[in-house]
Amino acid sequence: TLRYLYKNKTLVQCRPRFPHRESLLDRVSLFQGDITRLEVDAIVNAANRSLLGGGGVDGAIHQAAGSGLLKECRTLGGADTGDAKITGGYKLPSKHVIHAVGPIYSSSERDIKAAQLEACYENSIDLAIANKLSSIAFCSISTGIYGYPIVDATHIALQTTREILDKESSSGIERVIFVVWSDKDKHVYQTLLPEYFPES
Ligand code: ADP
Repeated sequence: TLRYLYKNKTLVQCRPRFPHRESLLDRVSLFQGDITRLEVDAIVNAANRSLLGGGGVDGAIHQAAGSGLLKECRTLGGADTGDAKITGGYKLPSKHVIHAVGPIYSSSERDIKAAQLEACYENSIDLAIANKLSSIAFCSISTGIYGYPIVDATHIALQTTREILDKESSSGIERVIFVVWSDKDKHVYQTLLPEYFPES
């Protein structure tokens, strides 16, 4: 069960779920704005199973990257929900795009959806590690058109990231940026980040 609280309809912070670790604090950050503008080793796209582009952030990434991206995506043969595949960044300032396929939310299959969303974060960071990348920026996968509730999705994003960053094998990952578009999503991340990355 998720342990966030709503008081007077606002999300309030719970106690830290992970111990304070000073060295992790400058490895995670929050950015509000357009993910296609970020100059990082990889931005993570909220793709669909075709990996051939779509609406939302996917459309924005393909638009900004240019047709070379779609051409490379056609060679990938799609991906299953929860999986991720890496391409070049083409005209983007980012060197690579990691295309992660988030689940389409349904409350009757909550556990399956959660596992699939978790797999997106895990597989994306694993790909970054395998390709010796040091910076990765995530959009909030599945929380737009795919309807995943933002609070639940943010817990999954932060917990999965924290668990991976706690492992020795992730030492090459110097920066993880969570990119939010709306003020509401920013508020959720700002509230929950200290539970997974406490400052003291
Ligand atoms: P999904 O189909 O996985 O739900 P969406 O693209 O609909 O993907 O939405 C995923 C998240 O990306 C949403 O929070 C949406 O507000 C956000 N988003 C949309 N465009 C951008 C952008 N250019 N940069 C960063 N985030 C974006």
